[in-house]
Amino acid sequence: MSERTDELAAIHNVSGGIMINLGGNKLNYADSEHVTTTESYDPDHQYHFTGQCHMGCRTFNVSVDGSELFFYRNTPSATLQSTLSNTPDEREWLNNGFCDECHDKLQKEGYIKKDGPQE
Ligand SMILES: [Zn+2]
Repeated sequence: MSERTDELAAIHNVSGGIMINLGGNKLNYADSEHVTTTESYDPDHQYHFTGQCHMGCRTFNVSVDGSELFFYRNTPSATLQSTLSNTPDEREWLNNGFCDECHDKLQKEGYIKKDGPQE
């Protein structure tokens, strides 16, 4: 296995499995050092997350509505699926750092558990 694969396996051990809520939720991947975040306020407050699929296959530029993200972060019972009006592919990347294709591949290889906290 490459170093990169080991690294992402480690990341997933942290984010996968049991979801611990300390009064709020995180975007596990988008909040990491791998992703650049900017904000805009015209006309509405939005966060823009820029980074790569963690396997390096493509670049994501994902915009998230500010009020949706605020609700997600501050509502322990909220899920990404029910809160963010982004595409499933975008939500997957924000939380796990992989595009659908790589996520499926890693799941088949056993790096990602099928029954993660997100859907
Ligand atoms: Zn990918």
